[in-house]
Amino acid sequence: MICVPPKGYSNCNTYSNLVPVIGSKAESKATFCRICEPLCGMIATVEDGRLTALRPDKDHPLSAGFACQKGIAFTEVVNDPDRVTTPLKRTADGFEPVSWDAALDDIAARLSEIHRRHGSGAVAWYMGNPAAFSYSHLFAAMAFAKGIGGASHFFSSSTQDTSSRLLANQFLYGAPFPVPIPDLMRTDLLVMFGANPVVSHGSFLTAPRIKDRMHDIVKRGGRVIVVDPRRSETAAQFDWLGIVPDTDAYLLLSTLQVLFAENLVSPRASAQADGLEWLRDQCAPFTPERTQPHTGIDPDTVRALAGDLAATERAAVYGRLGTCVGRNGTLTTYLLDAVNLVAGNLDTPGGSVFSTLGIPGQKWGSMAMGASLRRSYRYKRTRVGGFPLVIGAEPAACMAKEITTPGPRRVRAMFIGAGNPVLSVPNGAELEDALEATDLSVGLDLYVNETTAHCDYVLPVTTMYERDDFAVTFQMFQATPFRQATDAVVAPRGQARTEWDIVVDLVSRMSVRTPVFVALRLAARRAARRGKRLSPRPMIDMMIRMADGGDRFGLRRGGLTFRRLAEQHPHGVVVAPDIRTGVLGEVVVYPKSRIRLEHTDIASEITALSRRAEPDGYPLRMIGMREPRSENSWMHNSPLLMRGKRIHRALMHVDDAAARRLVDGDEVRVSSPHGQIDITVSLTDDIVRGTVAIPHGWGHKGSGGWRLANQAGGANVNQLMSSDPSDVEALAGMSWLTGIPVQVEGH
Ligand code: SF4
Repeated sequence: MICVPPKGYSNCNTYSNLVPVIGSKAESKATFCRICEPLCGMIATVEDGRLTALRPDKDHPLSAGFACQKGIAFTEVVNDPDRVTTPLKRTADGFEPVSWDAALDDIAARLSEIHRRHGSGAVAWYMGNPAAFSYSHLFAAMAFAKGIGGASHFFSSSTQDTSSRLLANQFLYGAPFPVPIPDLMRTDLLVMFGANPVVSHGSFLTAPRIKDRMHDIVKRGGRVIVVDPRRSETAAQFDWLGIVPDTDAYLLLSTLQVLFAENLVSPRASAQADGLEWLRDQCAPFTPERTQPHTGIDPDTVRALAGDLAATERAAVYGRLGTCVGRNGTLTTYLLDAVNLVAGNLDTPGGSVFSTLGIPGQKWGSMAMGASLRRSYRYKRTRVGGFPLVIGAEPAACMAKEITTPGPRRVRAMFIGAGNPVLSVPNGAELEDALEATDLSVGLDLYVNETTAHCDYVLPVTTMYERDDFAVTFQMFQATPFRQATDAVVAPRGQARTEWDIVVDLVSRMSVRTPVFVALRLAARRAARRGKRLSPRPMIDMMIRMADGGDRFGLRRGGLTFRRLAEQHPHGVVVAPDIRTGVLGEVVVYPKSRIRLEHTDIASEITALSRRAEPDGYPLRMIGMREPRSENSWMHNSPLLMRGKRIHRALMHVDDAAARRLVDGDEVRVSSPHGQIDITVSLTDDIVRGTVAIPHGWGHKGSGGWRLANQAGGANVNQLMSSDPSDVEALAGMSWLTGIPVQVEGH
């Protein structure tokens, strides 16, 4: 039966889904949250097959009874009446529910025809951030995007948050993984750049209760210094060092200059790396006196910081999003590690360390991956902008132009999994228009959002509590090595399916005969003959079994497997008290396991940094800002998180406001050379003068099917960002999202 949704609604769901069942039997199930990186332990209450509540898991060894308000509010996402729970097809009158067979048959036929006429270069997949929290989604995106043919396009949110970090690893260590993280549990001096873990809960750093762990550093006599243009929620609890937006590279270069000039270079550094003299020469011009006009930080402070980093036995410098999304994000990230190395704090207890899985032969896999990615970085270039590829991903900032620019490999079929790039990549309006120009566009999502609203189909997918899982992406970012796996705690709502099941079903209906697709079809048929569905779970099981704590396929009695973790250890297992150090031999894949500092691309970025030009008429600098009750764009439909009539606000310094005759609560127009938005302003003196902070993920203008989010509205801050290839970070193809030149005027 076809259901016709009421006018203004994207689907036929009703709030009756939220009515609790009286007299039903409640069951508690241990599982874990997968909204953000600490992966906090959760207890799900399930009544008559429905998720009715979530509460923090007191028995989780690391999160120990902690969960944030987003984690608790997730029941509302699972049961959201605005959630897409049947396949939807866009018609002239809006979205209409269709059957899975009708949707997949039509998509498969149109996609096969596009592939026949234009080849795999006409097909693209965009993978949003939540995909990193689902092993089945990761495997689905890879199998589809890479399996459809070598010319296909793969975009991901990594070019909005992580690619520069991964490329810096590739330069320094030869491969993008593992990623160095601060040894939070043992460090005595933690210097954080561009990170706000009190709100974000940690990124590229899986540490439940991270705020407590940072306070532990102070309790044991250590220090936490937060380098940030804003006295963020984290900076307010520790020592704040204010800095002009997007100038971290200058501060790091001058820190290195001091370390070299004052003979503070650790002997450990020359034992670990090649190219120290080259690095010293690169840093030589950046004395603290010369960087002060850029950073606003006085030379004595820089010298004291360098001295403390060299003198403290257990010290670590760590940077996150703010360091990755500036004009020279790869350089900045490279310099963070260079400071750790030169000060003698890399791969030592309490320093910046590498959390490895301990899988025998892991280095050989990493070597092969590193060699392949370095080759692709050197020789492969994107069609628009000529960017190198980082972990196989193209710059999402150029996605619209890849759709609209004529020529071979023009994108004609676009798949968007768990993403809302209209609100997350520069110039979302350009992408909205571009999506309308595709021959086929398909969203796989929980919602009709501002991006999937432009798709021909929106396919319903499972939430994290409706699938089994193991957070494979985050195993190597753990401050305390830990394993947890979960089964689904409830069945998928409506007709929702996992991304993996959708891709396998789609591929089985297509006529495309690439080796990967043929193999997938064969394997799916074989599994069906045994009454099963094809699943990537055996690959995850193998990883768990081979890693530290695993059963090594029977060699280690009582060791972990996926099933044993889910059934016998539902609260998870700590597999080692601390991260192993002295592991450079395992993680650096260059010959003799020596870190490589000298790179012409890094030298050219240092030159580019010195030649930065600022446009006239835009005296302020805009930065991003995390909010405790937002998760990018996708949790603004939860009543619990939106309570209190939340609105989107910009923060600016009281003095900058006074100079413009603005008062708290004024409506202002923020303009950049690339666009403008209107927003309410809040005033503070907890921000470096000349800085404006605006949270991203807002701008729900009614095109999406989420009613509460639409009421909240807000402005799409990425309209201020540029998607011009000349404004995309040159090495990793990162979107330029911080330090944007802006002007603010009363409106
Ligand atoms: S901090 Fe992150 S993982 Fe923990 S409950 Fe909140 S959203 Fe979930």
